[in-house]
Amino acid sequence: MEFTIQEGRLFFLQTRNGKRTAHAAIQIACDLVDEGKITPEEAVCRIEAKSLDQLLHPTFDPEALKAGEVIGSALPASPGAAAGQVYFTAEEAKAAHEKGQRVILVRLETSPEDIEGMHASEGILTVRGGMTSHAAVVARGMGTCCVSGCGEIKIDENAKYFELGGHTFHEGDFISLDGSTGKIYKGDMKTVEASVGGNFGRIMAWADQFRTMQVRTNADTPADTINAVKLGAEGIGLCRTEHMFFEPDRIPKIRKMILSDTAEAREAALMELLPFQKSDFKAMYKALEGRPMTVRYLDPPLHEFVPTDEEDIKALAEEMGMTPGQVKAKCDELHEFNPMMGHRGCRLAVTYPEIAKMQTRAVMEAAIETQEETGIKIVPEIMIPLVGEKKELKFVKDIVVETAEKVKAEKGSDMEYHIGTMIEIPRAALTADAIAEEAEFFSFGTNDLTQMTFGFSRDDAGKFLDSYYKAKIYESDPFARLDQTGVGQLVQMATEKGRKTRPELKVGVCGEHGGDPSSVEFFYKAGLNYVSCSPFRVPIARLAAAQAAINNAGK
Ligand code: PEP
Ligand code: MG
Repeated sequence: MEFTIQEGRLFFLQTRNGKRTAHAAIQIACDLVDEGKITPEEAVCRIEAKSLDQLLHPTFDPEALKAGEVIGSALPASPGAAAGQVYFTAEEAKAAHEKGQRVILVRLETSPEDIEGMHASEGILTVRGGMTSHAAVVARGMGTCCVSGCGEIKIDENAKYFELGGHTFHEGDFISLDGSTGKIYKGDMKTVEASVGGNFGRIMAWADQFRTMQVRTNADTPADTINAVKLGAEGIGLCRTEHMFFEPDRIPKIRKMILSDTAEAREAALMELLPFQKSDFKAMYKALEGRPMTVRYLDPPLHEFVPTDEEDIKALAEEMGMTPGQVKAKCDELHEFNPMMGHRGCRLAVTYPEIAKMQTRAVMEAAIETQEETGIKIVPEIMIPLVGEKKELKFVKDIVVETAEKVKAEKGSDMEYHIGTMIEIPRAALTADAIAEEAEFFSFGTNDLTQMTFGFSRDDAGKFLDSYYKAKIYESDPFARLDQTGVGQLVQMATEKGRKTRPELKVGVCGEHGGDPSSVEFFYKAGLNYVSCSPFRVPIARLAAAQAAINNAGK
């Protein structure tokens, strides 16, 4: 603060907020409460929710950061700091990791076949992709640092080098990434491990006391579920079931299902998927200990799942008893010009009802068996994605109900279950009153809702959005921070319309905006029951939800 004393009177000339790390902010807030200077409500409001990232992910050593040479920047897709040696394929990343190296995986873009390499990496850098692209969503789920959509990179994955900021990096060279700022640095910068002290728990306990909106998580595996529960998740708001098949022994099976020509072949492939799906659901229900889980039915945009790699095509051909040429021809047949608006979501279940049947069997058998084994009451929540029309939802719902009732009869169970939908297509928001006649709950898929409302591709918008910020047309990435004026209007309208039809309608959000503090405040004001976000963003959402409740009390 700057002050002056003039003729015995004290004048404050200016004050500024003291810059402090998240650790320091928490310590100061708790000390002030202990000294009786502020209330716990004030303490909760004095911590910037987003800054909790610093406690949950590694950061760069401040000295190293000062000396670091920035060679480029792109989207801060998943927070944390990472330094390591560059590798260009998932296999090489994994092999290097097994040799004890710290690895940065650099890819044009990632796909499910990269999952093991992503797991083995300290950080991920992609040339293409936005804040809700495969790399971004999966890395956030894992808690791995990711910088995506760096269009300035000139990459040659085959020759194993890339150019950026006037430098050329070959396999094995060191780079460093800051997934919280999107900056890319040359060389091996020192990082500091994340640590949460005791005061973090006190702040979070206060936050939980003040917030009214629930916080769930987006988790697709038993391990993510356990982690999210530790971070305070009150349930799963989105289990993306296609993500349950990313592991190398599973991905050929889902590909087999996608590439099947006949209903019989598809059913056979689905039967191979059923045991994996069911055992994961059981493990997740157990980890949740009675907390709710919303299972979102298959929604694989084909471009993410159809194999492109020669090796994968060969392996799949063997698995399917076809020649690689035949597999390639089938993939070409499935090619879509705009996969994000293509044969995905509930459209799959409309064309191939056997998919919804298999998934219903997996959910219901897992829930009934877990309830019997643990004695904990389970009420499955089944969510149908990408619905745009009430009759479309009814069509899939009828299949789900028929199979669920069959499983219940087989098992002699009277289990209650709910069927709801995602609101992620503008037409669903516009006709939400009709859709609520069939849906028992809504969950806003604001990733797709943003994509479809703006007409911006989730995977490509990174290429041109910078020009929009420079021209001051948009201030921030609408895939990271909800566009309250446009997309937000659809959220408000659909919530109101839905609740006119069904006053008790439970409404949540499971797009990436569920973990963004300013969007969380908007969802609170729109009257949503819960937000759902990736596990590591759960504490951020808990704090943001408390701040929203405190700041808007009585309004
Ligand atoms: C969404 O669209 O917001 C969503 C949560 O679904 P996905 O990201 O899987 O399309
Ligand atoms: Mg979606």
